[in-house]
Amino acid sequence: MCNIAVISVHTSPLARPGTRDSGGLNVYIGELSRELGRRYHRMDIFTRRSDAATPEIVDVDANTRIISVTAGPYDLDKEQVRLYLPEFLRGVIAFQERTAARYDLIHSHYWLSAWVGQALKRRWQTPHVIMFHTLGEAKNRAGAVEPEPAYRIEAEREVARDADRIVCASEGEREVLERLYCVPPERIAVIPCGVDLERFAPLDPAAARSELGLDNGAPIVLFVGRIEPLKGIDMLLQAVARLETRFRLMIVGGDEKDSGRRAGLAALARELEIGERVEFVDAVPHDQLPLYYNAAAVCVIPSHYESFGLVALEAMACGVPVVASDVGGLRDTVRDGQTGYLVPWSCPEPFAERLELLLGNQELRGSLGLLARSAVERFRWSEVAGRVEDIYHELVSRYRGVTVGSHAYEDSAS
Ligand code: UDP
Repeated sequence: MCNIAVISVHTSPLARPGTRDSGGLNVYIGELSRELGRRYHRMDIFTRRSDAATPEIVDVDANTRIISVTAGPYDLDKEQVRLYLPEFLRGVIAFQERTAARYDLIHSHYWLSAWVGQALKRRWQTPHVIMFHTLGEAKNRAGAVEPEPAYRIEAEREVARDADRIVCASEGEREVLERLYCVPPERIAVIPCGVDLERFAPLDPAAARSELGLDNGAPIVLFVGRIEPLKGIDMLLQAVARLETRFRLMIVGGDEKDSGRRAGLAALARELEIGERVEFVDAVPHDQLPLYYNAAAVCVIPSHYESFGLVALEAMACGVPVVASDVGGLRDTVRDGQTGYLVPWSCPEPFAERLELLLGNQELRGSLGLLARSAVERFRWSEVAGRVEDIYHELVSRYRGVTVGSHAYEDSAS
């Protein structure tokens, strides 16, 4: 059993995925903690307080707690959070001292947290594992609409140099870490993300549509995710505007705080004369998303960059074919022509072509969907947790000066 300090400064696992900065990272931390908790590891997840109401300690389950640390005003943009990192760090240290908590390892998520994790590593003399979830260099090379600043990339380089292990979810990210951040291969572990195969499973599409109160009219093209420029939603609108087949586009994600971006997208849809066929749906709780995937004919992921892309796995697990950009982690999950399509050009025409093909051919959708479901059977959160746990055991043993395998350590530590 290990005591893990999980650092997630800029977004809380309690936040609803699909809103503002909450997305794949939040789902990842939630699922990983649940699985590690089942294996009797204890997790304290430290996050920046973003409201007055949440108690300092929230027990998620018997082994996982969320600790809210006050650092800066409640409502901050991600870009501003870095200014309050020293205050956050002091808050974590104060909590640890006050409660006499003992941590065997630090696991940081995203570069802002990695900065905190690195300082804690020095203070506590414990191993530090980082998962960046996304890297500034990778986003910039993918032509990010809003380029990542040099200070982020500098900070990533520095913490990467010092980390005991960096977990990344795709081969593409491993390459970026090796080539652009000069991280030696032995300090990188590629562990794909997982999907809950019981929650995300094929359902009768007509039943899913009726449960959502949708008529059985035009086939649904589905987008699920945060409303942000990197997701390429504007390009998706331009793609569907080219379709000759009937369609209805559902854009699921975001909330009232995204009203500005949504209004811009709605204006573009009107300009393209498809305003009536596009529907914006506020972020849907994760456990209700299977209904949306199952109601859809196809799920589109038009991102300019995607470090992994959980949405692709979830749609595929529901037996729904995916049309995705040929970028980042999507290359590791979508098999072009077998479980969906990968589109190598960041422009609307090839997306429209693939969509037209799928919308006009139910049989093709069925066969790709079937293969998609079986292709994702190997992505399980229990598998992810098992591999992360092996890293924890190895590093904790090494720091304790015990050079034994994970099972021997388990015996000696329990
Ligand atoms: N998500 C959700 N409700 C929504 C929109 C998104 O639960 O309304 C979840 C989605 O199911 C997925 C995550 O948010 O698990 C998004 O992860 P992904 O890796 O696709 O994108 P990221 O947010 O990491 O860029």
